[in-house]
This record gives sequence, structure tokens and C-alpha cells, in this order.
Amino acid sequence: MSERRPPLADRFGRVHSYLRVSVTDRCNYRCVYCLPAEGMTWMPRSDLLSFEEVGRLVGAFAELGVRKIRLTGGEPTLRADIDKLVAAVAAVPGIEDLSMTTNGHTLPVLAERLAAAGLKRINVSIDSLKPDRFARLTRGGDLARVLRGIDAARAAGIGPIKLNAVILKGENEDEIFDLVDYAARSQSDTELRFIEYMPFEARWHQTVPARVLRDRLAEVYTLVPEGRSGPDAGPARGWRIVENGLRVGFISPLSEHFCATCNRLRLGADGHLRTCLAHEDTPSLRDLMRGGADDAALQAAIREMVYGKPEGHDCQVEGGTLFEGVMTGIGG
Ligand code: SAM
Repeated sequence: MSERRPPLADRFGRVHSYLRVSVTDRCNYRCVYCLPAEGMTWMPRSDLLSFEEVGRLVGAFAELGVRKIRLTGGEPTLRADIDKLVAAVAAVPGIEDLSMTTNGHTLPVLAERLAAAGLKRINVSIDSLKPDRFARLTRGGDLARVLRGIDAARAAGIGPIKLNAVILKGENEDEIFDLVDYAARSQSDTELRFIEYMPFEARWHQTVPARVLRDRLAEVYTLVPEGRSGPDAGPARGWRIVENGLRVGFISPLSEHFCATCNRLRLGADGHLRTCLAHEDTPSLRDLMRGGADDAALQAAIREMVYGKPEGHDCQVEGGTLFEGVMTGIGG
């Protein structure tokens, strides 16, 4: 760590400090925009990165300048002893920010253990506040339990909490005001983020552009832009609702894409890196490690893949190229 290394940059000068790590492709929910209706064949467990492999890779990325890690999935809390992985990642020198994206289902039982292990922040996916619709959109999810999970996380001292809602045309568009009300009634560390649906392999749903949602909210509320700028700002365009103080983010990968400032990398559950969400890089870092690559070889491979990161993707609200793969192994 002491020697100064060149930043983890691509050929367009984007410097990468953020790694999202999918720890499993398995999920206890089957969200209609994430998983195919016919179901999934999960990866064999031996294909998943072991905790030791994740720890080694996080260490390698940290030495290359990554400072921020998000654990995701599939559902990360389904991985047995996930708190041990949280503790191991939190202890990696150079990692300054560790968070998790979860559907919240297991938080009523796991929140305290996760907090004790060093988890500081979470994002919880919540696409509806109507129990029946929530169950339909998640194909079996339990809204009351997720709401209890959010409360449990807060009680355990995990925060800020970001609530992620994917809005699908004709499905849950009518709930944006209810979601705002719910988030605004929560503690002030709560942020609501509306995410545009991205089609992977097929367009199962229709995307509602961020601007449409913003305009609808602006018919009722006063929205003032609240930019966090700079390399660590994240993809959400932030606004503050004057009437209730809620911060609302809009993640608009299709309608107002943020490829030019993308500082994120994704490590798939099977060790494949995605320098761009739309496409998988090769070879798998897991295969390199299992083939005996030392840390220098691993870091050289990472640098090469990052250098070759595409300038951007071409997927649009209607048309363009679809994203490759299935979201559940990638982690959102
Ligand atoms: N199981 C966890 C959860 O539900 O949050 C983590 C994994 S999930 C793949 C991560 C995020 O990706 C969630 O917020 C989810 O809503 C979002 N997501 C999944 N598929 C998506 C899609 N096709 N377009 C946009 N967002 C998607």
C-alpha cells in the first residue's frame, strides 16, 4: 500500500474507485424485471467466489485505488455467514466505505449481526407499498417483513438507508407519491431513488424515463436540484423536495445515461468483471486465481480489462442494444 501506483483508469481517463461485488446469484425473491418468468438455474456453488477469493480480490482492487465496496447479488444475505464477509471486507486496508444492496427480507434477523460486522449503509429495494402488488412484482415477496427489516436495520444503527424503486410502465407508476410519503415519514437519513428499468437480453417491461417521474412529482412538490458532484457522487441525480425535506434520486441509465463519469466496476458472483454493466469482460478473475495467478498477474489483468472499458452503452428507453446477461448474477 505504501508505494504510489497509477490510478485504475480506462482509455477515456475515467478513474475507478467503486466496486460492486455480487456474492451470489441466488435470490429468495424473483422480481419480474430481474429474473425471467421461467425461473433460473443457479450457478453451481463451486462456481461462486469463495469468501477467501472475494477477500483477495477486494485487497487487489484496494491496492489499485478502489475505496468503496457494495455487496450485492442475487440476495447477498442468503450467503451463509455473510457477516463474516462483511467483517473481512471492512478490514481490508484502503476500503473506506462498505455498503450492501438487499431486498430486506432477512434484515429482521440479520441486521444486528451485519451492523456488528461493520456494515454502515444499506440500500433496500422496495417497488410497491401494496402487499399484493409487492408480492406479484417480487413473485412471492413479503412487504410487511421488508418494512420490519428496514426498521431493524435502522434500530441496529445502519444508515443512511436508501430505498430503491424500479418503476415499470403500467405496473407501479401510480405509487410514486406513496413511496415519497413513506420515505419522508422515515428518519431524515432516508433517501428514495427511482431507477429506470434496464432490459437484459429481452425487453419484458417498459421503462418510465426519469424526467417523466420528476415532472409528475413537480406537479405537486417543489423540487430543487441537490447535486453531489465529483468522482464519488454516484449515478443518482439528486433533488430535494422542499415540502417534506426528502432527498429523491433518479437513476437514469437509459434516458440520461452517466457513462461519461462512470467510476464503477462490477464483480460477478462467478468472478467475471464487468467494467460496463452492459457487457461481461473475460477472462474470469476467479479462473485466473484458481489457475495460480499471483497478485501481480491478477492486478495486471484487472488493469487491462479496465483500460478496455467501453466508452458507454447504447441501450435506450426504446431501441438500442440490450444489456447482456441476467441481473441477478451481476448485482444491479
Ligand atoms: N437482492 C438485492 C435487492 O433486491 O436489492 C440485490 C440485488 S438486485 C439485482 C440490485 C438492484 O438491481 C435492485 O435495486 C433491483 O431493483 C435492481 N434491478 C434488478 N434488475 C433490474 C433491471 N432490469 N433494471 C433496473 N434495475 C434492476
